[in-house]
Amino acid sequence: VTQQVATQIDEVVATSRFVDHHCHGVTATPGGVLGFDQRLTEAREPMRFGRRFVDGPLGTALLAICPEVLGFDSRPSIEAYFERREQLGEREVARRFLAASQLSALIVDTGYAAEETSPADLGEMAGCPGYEVRRVESIAEAALADGPPGDRYVQTVRRGLADAAAEGVGFKSILAYRAGLDLPWSRPSEKAVTAACAGLTDGVPLQDPTLLRHLLYETLDAASERGLPIQFHVGYGDDDLDLRSANPLHLEGLIREANERDVPIVLLHCYPFHREAGFLASVFKNVFFDVGLAIPHVGLEADRILAEALEVSPFGKLLYSSDAARLPEFYFLASRLFRRAARIVFNRWVESGLLTEDDALRAIEMIGSENARLLYPGVEAE
Ligand SMILES: [Zn+2]
Repeated sequence: VTQQVATQIDEVVATSRFVDHHCHGVTATPGGVLGFDQRLTEAREPMRFGRRFVDGPLGTALLAICPEVLGFDSRPSIEAYFERREQLGEREVARRFLAASQLSALIVDTGYAAEETSPADLGEMAGCPGYEVRRVESIAEAALADGPPGDRYVQTVRRGLADAAAEGVGFKSILAYRAGLDLPWSRPSEKAVTAACAGLTDGVPLQDPTLLRHLLYETLDAASERGLPIQFHVGYGDDDLDLRSANPLHLEGLIREANERDVPIVLLHCYPFHREAGFLASVFKNVFFDVGLAIPHVGLEADRILAEALEVSPFGKLLYSSDAARLPEFYFLASRLFRRAARIVFNRWVESGLLTEDDALRAIEMIGSENARLLYPGVEAE
């Protein structure tokens, strides 16, 4: 076996601290080892025939990469791993994984898995500042719960968005989970909004396409006022999602309008549409994207996904994220898998003679933290 000589890329990738520009909170894991196994998937139900999710791309990567943080020196069984987790306790496990994730800032979507840890808690465990992005659908739902819909709804949404813009560093939309991204992109008239409000029997979860379009145009106003980006869930997710209408190409009308108003649109996760996202990022100056959720879920093939994401996208358009939620392992797993992928991809491009090592290091710096610092106002990466 020949020992590979460590390149400068290997060293920088191993030691840099990244901005995790999209993640969620950590929560306790109920249901023993089977409950833990169920966290390794976006599926809602256990597998048939007693099969386990750990025997798949994400679980395999997790048991190869995470055990060292809990003190193992070889790959344990999922039972032994789970037992060690139980001995250490959820809080200690979370502290260890966050501290080991080598982050310089965290930007937390508080619309999911936010009950047990705040952005500040997560930042404290990770040893870096924690910032917040707010889900706009939650703001609209709070406005609908606030009283009889109508004129007041519009005012309450506007105020809610303005408050969120003052407190957070950006917005997040889960439109893909509601009406899908495939909407006629124009601002609905006041009359249409009032009629949609009147037609609502139950506004939670907000599914009405007219009210959702209205919400997104109001979000553009608030984002443009403060210079904030809007994150969109795109592609891969759980079975609540119609993947066909989660393709970012459907957002083109909104992207063009946002571009005119200089509002950045950040496409999240993107798999299996990371090539479409890369295309949009390459042709629209306001489009940015990540392959956050994809990296841990494709586990074994993370380098191929990163290479595909960068097929046509400039390096100044891709951001690092973990999309970690619930299991603290995911912050660390995403960080390690992304670094592994970056090492493989950038070394390969340098070896091919097309990219200089300096340009590779510059690209890694952009993707790992600089793009996020430029995009989110007020985010300090220490
Ligand atoms: Zn997310």
